[in-house]
Amino acid sequence: MESIVSLAKRRGFIFPTAEKYGGLGGFWDWGALGVEFKNNIKQAWWKKFVQGRRDVVGLDSAIVTNPTVWEKSGHLKGFTDSLIECKKCHKRYKADDLHPPGKAGRSCPNCDSMEFSDERAFNTMFKTFVGPVEDSASIAYLRPETAQNIFVNFESVQTSSRLKLPFGIAQIGKAFRNEITPGNFIFRSREFEQMELEYFVKPGEDSKWFEYWVEEAYQWFIGLGIKKEHLRKHPQSKGELAHYAKATVDLEYRWPFSTSGGDEGWSELIGVANRGDFDLKAHGFSVKDETGEFVPYVIEPSFGVERPALAFLLDSYDVVKGGRTTTTESNKEEEIVLRLHKSLAPVKVAVLPLSKKEPLVKEAGKIFEEIASRFACAYDDTASIGRRYRRQDEIGTPYCLTVDFETLEDKKVTIRDRDTMEQERVAVEELTIYLTEKFNAFS
Ligand code: ATP
Repeated sequence: MESIVSLAKRRGFIFPTAEKYGGLGGFWDWGALGVEFKNNIKQAWWKKFVQGRRDVVGLDSAIVTNPTVWEKSGHLKGFTDSLIECKKCHKRYKADDLHPPGKAGRSCPNCDSMEFSDERAFNTMFKTFVGPVEDSASIAYLRPETAQNIFVNFESVQTSSRLKLPFGIAQIGKAFRNEITPGNFIFRSREFEQMELEYFVKPGEDSKWFEYWVEEAYQWFIGLGIKKEHLRKHPQSKGELAHYAKATVDLEYRWPFSTSGGDEGWSELIGVANRGDFDLKAHGFSVKDETGEFVPYVIEPSFGVERPALAFLLDSYDVVKGGRTTTTESNKEEEIVLRLHKSLAPVKVAVLPLSKKEPLVKEAGKIFEEIASRFACAYDDTASIGRRYRRQDEIGTPYCLTVDFETLEDKKVTIRDRDTMEQERVAVEELTIYLTEKFNAFS
């Protein structure tokens, strides 16, 4: 885990926010590579679950939300965590972290005391005020999930898009939770992103669709390279289920740290819930068909972005002992290769002129311009070629393209594959076709 945190910072994936001023617990900034990587995750999800389907449409709703939404949804009363305080050192914890339901209680991780205050409910929604006056009439909330605004927009989206059951509405966007104990890097953040899909079905067809979406969610991760031995389906027990849920399956990832209640690192990556008719009933929506009027049931695959991002980084992190490049300077060292799925890699192609000499740099610049509008490219003409390969391997760049003196003669470049290490000579004029084929095979 430390290696990932350090790589993320060193190479500009993820930084603690406002580090210059001491940071802010549970808030993170995504750097140059991070923003590309995160966009790729969101795009892979959107392509698969929205654009690739006839029965799902998208939505982008407001973050600051009318408080009535949260009153109707039950969040004002119920979106709480139980807070306990160590009586000795006064550190505060989420009660579940120290006393997971059905498991033995733990001592204070800070001072080892077993004496705690009584549990106190703590609402984790961030409150703000709309307009110049800070009074109770101007209170609004930053959404703690993207789902509720999907429910509130149910009718507008359904009628404007002329949708018939079963259909889904999806949204990707920020969510905010004033977590008691943020931590484990981005695993538990206070500001994070979600990718949520609310799939509306006829009552009676819900169990079938629930199974379907659990499998779709599972296969999405496997398809993007998560190892099967690190991913499992965890059906929630009656004691774990939210009061409104008929059934929930968490997809759990085997993290290299332990989290609340998780065993051997297994803990929630994303969740899929059968929410019954709770949400549409709460907001007063129903539909009519030939059988009469009824409230649709909702199946909700609810993904965060940060946890999948962390899982993709952890799962793809590979250390090759003894080095794999053949240059004398690097062949004794350990080399890091981030074997990210090609569609997730922040840089797809690195353009590397073998020398900084004018004709090569000019030719490499031309090639960069030609392909950069199609593929996220990096350009690097500093340091030895071995070191430049290593820099790209470390951030998961699938292809390195070297421009050498022969290129000037034969108009071909050498393309090196990150995983197979094979090198191929490819004609410059065929580059776009070559790379398109390579990436299509993995999208
Ligand atoms: P947990 O039990 O770990 O707090 P949760 O059950 O409250 O999670 P949900 O409300 O089901 O989480 O949210 C759906 C998804 O959003 C989670 O599976 C996770 O991927 C993501 N998520 C939730 N809370 C956070 C957070 N604080 N930081 C990062 N991602 C989060």
